[in-house]
Amino acid sequence: MQPIRLTFLGTSASVPTKERGLPAVHISYNGYSILFDCGEGTQRQLTLAGISPTSIDAIFITHLHGDHVFGLPGIINTMLLNNRRKPLYIFLPPTALRRVRWLVHAIPLFPLFPIAWIPVREGTIFEGREFHIEAVRLDHTTETFGYIFREKDRRKLLKDKLEKVGVNDWRIYRRLKAGETVTWNGIELSPEEYTTLVKGRSIGYFVDTAPTYIPPVDYLIHDSAFGEGEREKAEEVKHSTARQAAEVAKKIGAKKLFLYHISPRYRDPTPLLEEAKEVFPYVEVAEDLMTVEL
Ligand SMILES: [Zn+2]
Ligand SMILES: [Zn+2]
Repeated sequence: MQPIRLTFLGTSASVPTKERGLPAVHISYNGYSILFDCGEGTQRQLTLAGISPTSIDAIFITHLHGDHVFGLPGIINTMLLNNRRKPLYIFLPPTALRRVRWLVHAIPLFPLFPIAWIPVREGTIFEGREFHIEAVRLDHTTETFGYIFREKDRRKLLKDKLEKVGVNDWRIYRRLKAGETVTWNGIELSPEEYTTLVKGRSIGYFVDTAPTYIPPVDYLIHDSAFGEGEREKAEEVKHSTARQAAEVAKKIGAKKLFLYHISPRYRDPTPLLEEAKEVFPYVEVAEDLMTVEL
């Protein structure tokens, strides 16, 4: 099974602190290098995490608030200086597209690589061979989308069973893995009988948002800007409290919740963690440069 490496680059909200940079999360999977958001300082955080900024294939921007986009011109400038040639895909809400493009081109840049600006809509927006990315509309003060990295389910061969009936041919293996029923020497080999279905893993990135409907994911990265003491404030500015994030995680049956987009007022996030734990036990506060292998 290919590892999915998840790296939190910046975990603060609105402004950076000594401990936390601005939002960006990196996913590395089977040769793909993907960013969710690109807050100011993202390329430095990538470098500290040992990830080349030039390697990024696609960037998924959640919304047009400075803390989520100000890193874009810098990272693109570095790609240019590094003679990047491969295209860069930037996905973003339709209402953010024009302004973010201005932001990137405010200083004349003449990249030698194409930049594809792709307005998102709800549903599947990026199709890789072994995974796809879905966009989900969130509830914030401006048009905002959350993103899901979803590995496709795959079929694993039951080799012992196949050997028992004498099959040892990779062409048959390939067809079974693709879900086809194969007739071989008069025997019908069905994928249900000769393979098992391995569920794909999924990661959801949902910032910035008030609690809202999101589809089930295994690993949930959720807006936890505030504690319960600031619940009214959270409602007013359309963010979530850590406890509300935990309620979402419980509702969708997540395996793990990462509290994310922490307001700079919580230098010590322990109270947020405790409030969340009262509702959902499998929770952790995301920290800058924290890496999780799934
Ligand atoms: Zn934000
Ligand atoms: Zn925002």
